[in-house]
Amino acid sequence: MKMNYYLYRYLWPIYRVLVKHKLSNRCTICGLNEKCVTISDSVCEICRKEHTSKLATQAAELSKNPAAEKELDDLLTEAQGKGRGLYDAMFLFSGGKDSTYILTRLKTRYKQLRLVALTVDNGFRSPIGKQNAERICEHLDVDHLEIRPYQIFKKLYKYGFENFSHHGFVCTDFLEGELFQDIGRNLAAQLEIPLLVLGYTPEQVEETFLPKEFDEYHLYGSEDFKFKENQKFTRAKFLGVNLTDIFTPEEMNYWWDASKWSVERIPTLILPFQAWGYHKTEVVNEVVSLLHHILDEKSLNPMLTNDLYGGLGLFLDYKIFGYSPMFEQEFARYVRTGKEDVKQNRNLWESAEYLFLKPEKSVLDSPDMQFCLTKLGLTKPALDNIIKKSKAILEGKH
Ligand SMILES: [Zn+2]
Repeated sequence: MKMNYYLYRYLWPIYRVLVKHKLSNRCTICGLNEKCVTISDSVCEICRKEHTSKLATQAAELSKNPAAEKELDDLLTEAQGKGRGLYDAMFLFSGGKDSTYILTRLKTRYKQLRLVALTVDNGFRSPIGKQNAERICEHLDVDHLEIRPYQIFKKLYKYGFENFSHHGFVCTDFLEGELFQDIGRNLAAQLEIPLLVLGYTPEQVEETFLPKEFDEYHLYGSEDFKFKENQKFTRAKFLGVNLTDIFTPEEMNYWWDASKWSVERIPTLILPFQAWGYHKTEVVNEVVSLLHHILDEKSLNPMLTNDLYGGLGLFLDYKIFGYSPMFEQEFARYVRTGKEDVKQNRNLWESAEYLFLKPEKSVLDSPDMQFCLTKLGLTKPALDNIIKKSKAILEGKH
């Protein structure tokens, strides 16, 4: 769903007024869709309950946790030079704004930390995201590993779209995130790297957002930033499905099996945003000001850096639900807690909604969608089946 960035950024705020009658009503405070929440007098019931402005100030204060920040600082300082192999820490690096912010901060503050950035290329990365990752590592002088396990990701997306779409695209996206992490865990264990750093935001690991049934191995819901004990798991299942029913024995080696490793080889997982606090606008501003000569605001926009299969996932969400479950709630929460601007959020989802209202053919014929469909071996009738099947499952639930 590539859209000209400048059209989106500058024309959409004007154009939306003309097509407003076709779009869902949204809360004026957080931008959440009326399909996710009851809205009265232009304000949603969550905002009404939470007295959003008060919450935003509190959250901004709370997210700054000096004790945790100090603890993480000590841990990283201490970790310098401690790895038994080439590196002390591995960072899962996508090239997006959050991960660029973390990489910059690690590199500039911990000069003796032998850091390696790992980019997992799923075969669906946007050209801009790809380019960003290479340029940033080169600029920051960080060793950069890239692995391209195309087959397993292709299989995961296809299986996810065909079987989990009634849970929303968030489900396939979550499982993909678990595979990214497991590839990192395996490489860190193999290369004897003691720390594995991950750029998840506090919202992404918060219990309230994640359906319990996704979190088979109890990896989420803690406010801590450092995880060791709960990394001793063997990934075998997702939503009641045995992974061995989907993946070949060779492919199963990409998934994490802690029993293969001695305890000291199991990397400690670090989520820096849990300690530093997370503010979307601050992150973008800081990254842009530090790297202005190699990146601009445009090249950090999620519309352009997100993986191409995301467009297909959101297309299915809009056809099945009329909105995107969990993602829209997550983004509205960023607004409510003062981490994102309401207009940015509203524009992002409205333009997606508008795009998917258009006749299916024109959306699915776009080069990005064609690329995804061909790569996944999916056709238009196959998508119709997925939509029909998912709707039937959801109706059966009521
Ligand atoms: Zn609201």
